[in-house]
This record gives sequence, C-alpha cells and structure tokens, in this order.
Amino acid sequence: STFASLGLPQEQLDNLQQMGYEQMTEIQQQALPAALEGKDVLAQARTGSGKTAAFGIALLSRINPRFFGAQTLIMCPTRELATQVATEIRKLARFQQNIKVVTLCGGMPIGPQIGSLEHGAHIVVGTPGRIKDHLRKQTLNISQINTLVLDEADRMLDMGFAADIDSIVQETPHNRQTLLFSATYPENIEALSRQYQNNPVSIRV
Ligand code: AMP
Repeated sequence: STFASLGLPQEQLDNLQQMGYEQMTEIQQQALPAALEGKDVLAQARTGSGKTAAFGIALLSRINPRFFGAQTLIMCPTRELATQVATEIRKLARFQQNIKVVTLCGGMPIGPQIGSLEHGAHIVVGTPGRIKDHLRKQTLNISQINTLVLDEADRMLDMGFAADIDSIVQETPHNRQTLLFSATYPENIEALSRQYQNNPVSIRV
C-alpha cells in the first residue's frame, strides 16, 4: 500500500514521492501506523528492509523545529550504520525546514561534535560509547527526547554495548516512545525489550 493512508502532511508525501518511495515496504506497512500513534514497536528487520524510513518517518512527525534541543536519540552499533541512518533521515526531513541531524560516533574528533551540539540538534544519531562520552561531558542533554531508537540492537549487544546503552537510557524520560529494531530475536533482545519498552507492538517480516 502507499504512504497516503498514514495521514502524513502533504509536504512529506511529496518528499517521499521525490525520493522514489511509492509503495511502503513490508516493515513500513506494519510498523508505521503503530509508531505514528506513539506506540512502542519491537521489530525484526534487517538492512535493506526499509527499516530506517519505518522509524524515521515516525520520529520526524514529532519534531518541533523551533525547539533546538535533542528530541530523538538513535543508537546504532557502528559508525557506518549511524552515517547511513543520518543520511536517510536528512532526506526524509527535507519536507520541513531547519531540522538538524548530528552524528556522534567514536573514532571521530569530538570537538566538531560538541560544536554541532552547541548550535542545537533536533536528532542525534550515534554509537553508544561516544554518546555516553558526551553525556559525561554534559555536552549532550537527552532529558527531553520523545523518541528513542535502538537500531540493530542485536549487534549492539554482541559488541558489548549493554552497559553503555543502559546508562544512556537512564537519562531519557520515562514517557518516551521506544522503537527497537533487531535482525534476530535472541533471549537478550526480549529482555532488552521488557526492560525498555512499554507494551510494544511486535512485528516480524
Ligand atoms: P534500510 O533497510 O533502511 O537500510 O533501507 C534500504 C533501502 O531501501 C534504502 O536505500 C532506502 O532508501 C530504500 N527504501 C526504503 N523505503 C523504501 C520505499 N518505501 N520505497 C523504495 N525504496 C525504499
């Protein structure tokens, strides 16, 4: 089915069409209605499924461009994935003026990241270690985010990020929406969902 059924602003529908997105992918069909309603979503989806737009379109619907603080935090296992996600979100955000997306990854100089955060970022995408560094330095404030995305959560756990993720999630509001994407569903992902999500809608494609 098409994106027209979702109640998105016409500007976003036009933007999606310009991106060449006409039909929703399976994961988008299943995840977007619930995510746009603000529900937590636990989705089994791999790269190539269209998962980035599945959470990106939902989180963009809640961004207030006039508030220059972090409103969404997206955690990814690697710099490559974080960069890819940020690129896709910037394209999805073109329908609205002035939405800033900042990437916070390890292995990159921290100074420019601090500068970008000082200028005000609506959406923060990064890897857990570097996000935690910024929280410790108090160069990032995630106390007012409305949406938390854990992307490729199984890989983040495999890479040993569980403790970092936990200390980061502690600094987010309780009433946030939490979207959890994972290619596989081992027991530790179910536990992560139980810990961080509230009555999630489960999706497998
Ligand atoms: P992802 O799984 O998020 O990495 O997306 C895989 C690729 O599919 C990316 O190149 C997206 O730009 C593209 N894509 C996502 N959703 C759609 C859609 N509804 N129609 C066409 N291409 C899409």
